[in-house]
Amino acid sequence: MRRWIQILIGGAVCGVIMLVICFQSLGDGFLHIYYLNIGQGDATLVRTPGRQYILIDGGPGDAVLGELAGVMPFFARRIDVIVLSHPHADHLDGLIEVLERYDVGTVMMTGVSYGYKGYERFLELIEERGVNVVFVNGGTDYALDDVVLDIVYPLESLAGREFENVNNSSISLRLLYGKRIFYFSGDLEIEGEEELVASPLDLRSDVLKAGHHGSRTSSSEPFLDLVQPQWAVISCGVDNQFLHPHPETIAHFQKRDMTIYRTDLDGRVDLWSDGNEIFFGN
Ligand SMILES: [Zn+2]
Repeated sequence: MRRWIQILIGGAVCGVIMLVICFQSLGDGFLHIYYLNIGQGDATLVRTPGRQYILIDGGPGDAVLGELAGVMPFFARRIDVIVLSHPHADHLDGLIEVLERYDVGTVMMTGVSYGYKGYERFLELIEERGVNVVFVNGGTDYALDDVVLDIVYPLESLAGREFENVNNSSISLRLLYGKRIFYFSGDLEIEGEEELVASPLDLRSDVLKAGHHGSRTSSSEPFLDLVQPQWAVISCGVDNQFLHPHPETIAHFQKRDMTIYRTDLDGRVDLWSDGNEIFFGN
């Protein structure tokens, strides 16, 4: 009799675990964007309505791992797409940790040439793991689930090219879901923004992740005139040595009545959308 009770309890526990896993595996119909709290750097995780994961940059060190564990189910070991905006340590180093621990489908990058050990390790790992690589350039769209990644920068292929200021090789993209658009600009500075302003590309977006951690070398007025964002998210570290974000950038945003979220003050910024409305929380 006691054995039957043990079997029944064991069965019930297994059932509950299976239900939890099934529940966590189902999409909820919302796009989720997590602007991760990784200190002075950039890392954003996107969960599509059908539960595919896109990681845009990985931040410095390994802080991204704790953040991913905080927003992904414990059994999720796959990142469908990684986007490396540019190969600076504060965007790249966490991606090395991710490539070592997660099954990664595709890496999107510019293929720019840049002398940094971490970048060499990143490229080695991609090759070792047989990860699909896409060198992106402007005007290209990638559909994933119900989401479209509209690459706006660079305007042309940068594979193999060297940059004096590699910030200006940053991938900038618009993520489209339903009627809503979310802009990610890496560390693209004013020189790159000027190229975009002069291009015929549609830049309009609802939420802007401020370029270069809110530095005044990005988010120029002509650029903001075309993006017309209502919200800005700034990813920067508490009391960072670069004094990001710059008061001038904040003033530009405030002048436009934009709502500002900052990872140094707000921690991880969570956003979700059904394609019509946009909601923020922590
Ligand atoms: Zn940066």
